[in-house]
Amino acid sequence: MSYAAGIDFAIGQDRHDPCARFRDEFYFPEKPASAERVLYLCGNSLGLQPKRAAELVKEELEDWQRLAVEGHWKARRPWMPYHENLSADLAGLVGARAGEVVAMNSLTVNLHLMMVSFFRPQQGRHKILIEKPAFPSDRYAVVSQLRFHGLNAADALIEVAPRENETVIRDEDVISLIAEHGNEIALVMLPGVQYYSGQLFDIAAITDEAHRMGCIAGFDLAHAAGNTLLSLHDWDVDFAVWCSYKYLNAGPGAVAGCFLHERHGRDPSLQRFAGWWGHEKATRFEMGPEFHPIPGVEGWQLSNPPILALAPLVASLDIFRRARMAQLVTKSRRLSGYLEFLVNTQLHEVFEIITPKEASRRGCQISLRLRDGAERGRALFKRLPDLGVFVDWREPDVIRAAPVPLYNSFEDVFHFVQLLKRLADS
Ligand SMILES: *Cc1c(COP(=O)(O)O)cnc(C)c1O
Repeated sequence: MSYAAGIDFAIGQDRHDPCARFRDEFYFPEKPASAERVLYLCGNSLGLQPKRAAELVKEELEDWQRLAVEGHWKARRPWMPYHENLSADLAGLVGARAGEVVAMNSLTVNLHLMMVSFFRPQQGRHKILIEKPAFPSDRYAVVSQLRFHGLNAADALIEVAPRENETVIRDEDVISLIAEHGNEIALVMLPGVQYYSGQLFDIAAITDEAHRMGCIAGFDLAHAAGNTLLSLHDWDVDFAVWCSYKYLNAGPGAVAGCFLHERHGRDPSLQRFAGWWGHEKATRFEMGPEFHPIPGVEGWQLSNPPILALAPLVASLDIFRRARMAQLVTKSRRLSGYLEFLVNTQLHEVFEIITPKEASRRGCQISLRLRDGAERGRALFKRLPDLGVFVDWREPDVIRAAPVPLYNSFEDVFHFVQLLKRLADS
């Protein structure tokens, strides 16, 4: 792919973009009076609202008003099996088979539920491998699981970090760590896309090595779901969790997702924390004292789901189904490549891109490190909101920008770089 510096290039790309029509299906935030336009490049933090979301939430409010308890069976989308409306689309998005995905809870809750089942430390095999620095919540969750089993991080947590003077973790380093310490590792728990650097791990290769050494391979796909192509079933991943408010555009605190490989899902003897919504559907309302799990990951559900919170996810996944992930990723690679090209050719002295260059090693996010360091960087970042730019700042010196193929355009990227140049020059 070759790029050009002028705005004509961006306009031409947008004109021929098969995904461009989806931009109109989202609400963009209000434009500050001081700005010429809104440039929303923060879909890695909170995705935009699908215009249809409000309608779907309203339908549920109406059905509750009209039908009360009978909504469980008679609503337009009956509440009893409501989460099933999402399963096929979610499975398509992450490369899962029927019965391997469910929308439930929130990400960290699902991570704990999966660790309850899959972090079962034994004498000699009691360690967890994560990345460093990991997303804080993931580290808290993992360390609290260690403690729960009477272990401590100093002994039982292995953290894989970038090499000295490097900014991303090498897949080969992850794999050699697993090869070296695999006999002691119970669980390898890594991100798909790392939230800070934007690097995409080689999930298939890491899973293979983990399995070769007898470890469980679980992934946090908070930044990968809806952002990269995933084949969780074929890659033989044991479990994965993700949230739905980032690339999946289902709203703040949206109901999260969980993948569990069918070979585990079919095993009723697996330890789990159980709740009635995981009970066999046909006999759930016999209200018997014994728990008989639904085969598959649905058997890990705890509670009857929050219908009002699930409705926006229905709206969002409907857009993903029409847009098709493969097509989005094709655009995403061009769009992020364009941002990379403009930064490298026009802002090279100000920013260093820490996200890997290879398209196969990243999603849409580009992490820009201020060469001048934290102070000047923070000052520059603080001037962006008044210019209508939504990106985020991660300490000590990184701006994360995510051109999202569903609703961002090449023109967005062009104007973003123009504004950065203006700020850097002033
Ligand atoms: C966003 C994110 C989370 C958020 O967890 P919640 O339970 O949804 O609050 C956790 N881990 C990672 C890696 C994330 O990027």
